[in-house]
Amino acid sequence: MESLYYVVSWLCHRKCVHCYDDRFRPYLRDDLAQVVGEAERCWPRIVDHLPAAMRYLDLASPLPEGGYQTRTGRIILAGGELLVDPIREPVLYPLLVRLREKYRSVGGVKVIVQTTGDLVTEPIVERLIERGVWMISVSGMDDFHVGMEGDKRRWLEERLTELFTRLGLRPSDHTPGADRPDDDAQPTFGFFGATPGSWIGKLWPRGRAWQNDLSSAGIVDNYP
Ligand code: SF4
Repeated sequence: MESLYYVVSWLCHRKCVHCYDDRFRPYLRDDLAQVVGEAERCWPRIVDHLPAAMRYLDLASPLPEGGYQTRTGRIILAGGELLVDPIREPVLYPLLVRLREKYRSVGGVKVIVQTTGDLVTEPIVERLIERGVWMISVSGMDDFHVGMEGDKRRWLEERLTELFTRLGLRPSDHTPGADRPDDDAQPTFGFFGATPGSWIGKLWPRGRAWQNDLSSAGIVDNYP
C-alpha cells in the first residue's frame, strides 16, 4: 500500500466555507464529548484493520534484474484539526505510538500529520517527532482559511519555517506521485493550501464546499 488518508476526527477550531465536512463548532451540550469519544473509540480498531505492511512497488523505479524498487508507504493523518487539545493528547499521540509499533518490524511507515498550522508550537513539534512523525504538512495556507488570506499567512509560514528548521526538520521536496528514498529518515515539513484548481474544484463535491457552491464536480468526475 503506497498511501492512506485517515481522517481521525472532524473536530476543528475553524469552520471554513470550503470544508469537505459540514459539522462544526460550537459543539453544544454533549456534542464535544460525542465527537471526541467517537475518535477515541474508533482509532484502535481502525489501526487494527490497516494493512499489515505499508510497502509498495515503485513502478517508476524498475530494477535491472527485473521487478521494481520496494518503498515505504505513507499514512496521512488528518482532521478536522488534530492538534486541538481534546484530540491531540488522548487520540493523536497514542495513535502515533501504535502506528510505529504496528509497522516497526515490517518495513516501517511514513506518517504525515496534516494541520492548519496556527496551533503548532515547539513542544507539539517535539512530541510529534518523538513519536516518529515523518512529515508535518501545513494545509491551511490559502485564501479560504479566515485570517490566512493573501499576505496575512506569510507571518505564520515564516514562524513555522524557523521553528521546524531549528528543531531539525527539513523542507519537503515531496511531490504527488513521487516518493522520498527509504533511507531518508530526517523529518520534513511542507506547506500547501486549497485553490479552486486543487483540493476544491471537482475534487471537493461534498460538505460546506458543496453547500456553498464551490465545487465544480460533475457527473463524470470520480471522487472516491
Ligand atoms: S477545512 Fe480544515 S481547518 Fe477548515 S473547518 Fe474544515 S477541517 Fe477545519
